[in-house]
This record gives sequence, C-alpha cells and structure tokens, in this order.
Amino acid sequence: MIKAITFDLDDTLWDIWPVVERAEELLHDWLTVRYPRIPERLTPLELRELSSEVTAAYPERAYDRTWLRKEALNLAARRAGYQAFDVEGAFEVFFVARNAVEPFAEVRPTLERLGRRYLLASLSNGNADLRLIGLDDLFAFSLNAIDIGAAKPDPLLFKEASRRLAVRPDQIVHIGDDPEHDIFGAARAGFRTVWVNRTCRDWPGGPKADAEIVTLDELEPVLTAWEERG
Ligand SMILES: [Mg+2]
Repeated sequence: MIKAITFDLDDTLWDIWPVVERAEELLHDWLTVRYPRIPERLTPLELRELSSEVTAAYPERAYDRTWLRKEALNLAARRAGYQAFDVEGAFEVFFVARNAVEPFAEVRPTLERLGRRYLLASLSNGNADLRLIGLDDLFAFSLNAIDIGAAKPDPLLFKEASRRLAVRPDQIVHIGDDPEHDIFGAARAGFRTVWVNRTCRDWPGGPKADAEIVTLDELEPVLTAWEERG
C-alpha cells in the first residue's frame, strides 16, 4: 500500500544547470558594477569552483549550499581586496535567478492528479524555493538539506520525511534523478524508489531502483501496477 510520494526537485521537476549558469552570469554582471576586481580576477565558473574550495575546507557544512555560495563570495571579495562586501545582496541576485526555473510540462498536471491519491512532499539537497517557483501548493511540505543539517543520501532526510508524513518508509515512494542521492539514499531508508532518467543514461551500477521512467508521465502506471500487486 503506497501512501506518500517524495520528490527530488532539481533535474527531476526541471532542468537546473542552464538556470544555474544564467544565475552565475547575472551575479557576475552585478559584481562587475559594484565590485569589479572580483570579476576581473574570476570567471563565473572559477567563482563556482571556489565553492569546492570552501567545501574542502568545511566538509561539515557541505550540506548547506547557500552557506557555501556565500562563503565562496566572501572569499573572492577578500582575495580581491574588498574589506566590506554585500554578500547578502550578491547572494540574492543569484538566488532569485536560480529559482527562475521552468518545470517540465507534465509536472503540474501529474502532481495535481497524484495529490488526490497520495501525500506529496519534496526532498532536496539544493536551495530551490518552491514559493518563488510557484509549485508550493502541490506539496504537504518541502524539506531541504539546510533544514535538516544533512544531505541525501544520508537517511536523516528520508527519516524526517517519513516522520512528518506519519507514513512508514515502505509505504513511501521516492522519485529522483540522482542514483546515489535519490535511489541508494531512499532505498537505504526503506523507501521504494523510482529513477527519473530523462537523458537515458546507463545505470552506474549497484542496486537498481524499483522502477525507471523517462518522464513523470510514466509514473502513475508504475504506481498503479504496484498497487494492484499489493
Ligand atoms: Mg536532482
């Protein structure tokens, strides 16, 4: 008996990388006007890579992508010789643009239908804001790694979702694109799993998801077949 469905967000409900690249370009333009020595020294990609440097220095904060971006910006400002830097203003430029995503066409109609049969929640490692994106009405709640202090595949996020849904893990199906974060993580927490493989990649190895789909259009038949098998 399936009672609830949890969804990954980035690359499951929308393409994220073109949007992140655009957000990084807009941030770069903003910096060019206010703190020109930063973009003179760093391309948008080099600025992103500073986040990896921060992650390596603070692995215990790796789950918090907002903090990592802000720390990377602070680091870039210090290295460019700026004593005072408006990190909140800079992050806001990135954050607003990062949430200008375009959900795949089937997302809203599918989730509206599923919401009449199941409890729905979202579980994300990223910092998407469903209110800005306009999908918050579809979910009972949205958990992200920053709220919980741990990122997928850590079972903590899945356990917290199960607790808030008041549904046993084996009655929850997790839907996501990332084999490690979404499929292994959810399976280890006792959830059923559906791998969304929009780009038709090969499975990287290890225990497979309980089902594989290309778009969310294929999700309801999978769930119905499971329900009928009981
Ligand atoms: Mg994803």
